[in-house]
Amino acid sequence: MTEKITETVNRLKKAKNAAVFCHARPDGDAIGSAFALREVLRGLGARAEVMCDDEIPERLGFLCSGEKVYRELPFDVDTIVTVDVASPEQLGSLCVFADRADIKIDHHAVSKPFGKTELVIPAASAAGEIVFYIAKECGMLTHRAVNLIYAAIVSDTGGFRYSNVTEDTFDIAGELVSLGADAAEISEALIERKSVNDALAAGLTYMSMKSSAGGKLRYVTITNEMKEKYSLKDENLGECSSLLRAIEGTQLAFAIKQGETKDIFRVSMRSKEGIDCAELCARFGGGGHIRAAGCTVYAASAEEAENMVLSVCEKAL
Ligand code: AMP
Ligand code: MN
Ligand code: MN
Repeated sequence: MTEKITETVNRLKKAKNAAVFCHARPDGDAIGSAFALREVLRGLGARAEVMCDDEIPERLGFLCSGEKVYRELPFDVDTIVTVDVASPEQLGSLCVFADRADIKIDHHAVSKPFGKTELVIPAASAAGEIVFYIAKECGMLTHRAVNLIYAAIVSDTGGFRYSNVTEDTFDIAGELVSLGADAAEISEALIERKSVNDALAAGLTYMSMKSSAGGKLRYVTITNEMKEKYSLKDENLGECSSLLRAIEGTQLAFAIKQGETKDIFRVSMRSKEGIDCAELCARFGGGGHIRAAGCTVYAASAEEAENMVLSVCEKAL
């Protein structure tokens, strides 16, 4: 692995004008890792900006206050890096850049290859772990980078709770704390604190959930009508599937969210030991991790989308 990291670092050192892409509807790992890489690239003397199809969600604003992400190349770039992006479709409308990517830095076990070179480490709990090794090798673990990487890891491990946490995760987190990461503040902002709309989304999830297989499977479908009724944005709905998995007896959970047009449905899936939801999502062209995965399905109605996913999940139990 160290060789692959060194190779990537050598490539980054050649960059003069770089764009770091993260996935659409970005989470803490996407934003934390992308801005940390931008920090590293700038430290190495390059011009660098972050590209994303969606704005930075409000709850991640504290990590990069006053910063912006670009939807168009801000300048002529000689280096394109993607981070936390498993497949081109996760780039949203920026997927046109996928094949131009010089380096794909990622940690998803089930993904689609793209770009020219890849640094994919599925054992990493977050893309932030990989960015940590890169920043460390570059001597670029600034206070800013340390906080961004710590936030990336906290975000993808649910505050060090999920099965993707390894000894390396704690080693890295320990090193980040010793370098001054604001651990309590980051956990409070990312795990503890909920906006009123996040709380409403949780309520809606619990009140609307359905069960199958005697409660081994729990799921919810959130239509655009439901979102409008409670003024919910997609960024309020990121936790729905995890909330359902946490209910006693659940082995597999999914949340379906209607997308920007009424025939697009984004599926967020979570599982407990024994069920590989990345494999289930791959059947719909998606991917992700064993215990947390996603895909997009196209259907004429919410009911049809729900039945498509439900039948695959029921068979898996
Ligand atoms: P989410 O449920 O949106 O939090 O996604 C769970 C995990 O699955 C995240 O690591 C996502 O990056 C990943 N994921 C979501 N959608 C896809 C997709 N279409 N292809 C590959 N991975 C995905
Ligand atoms: Mn992510
Ligand atoms: Mn991630």
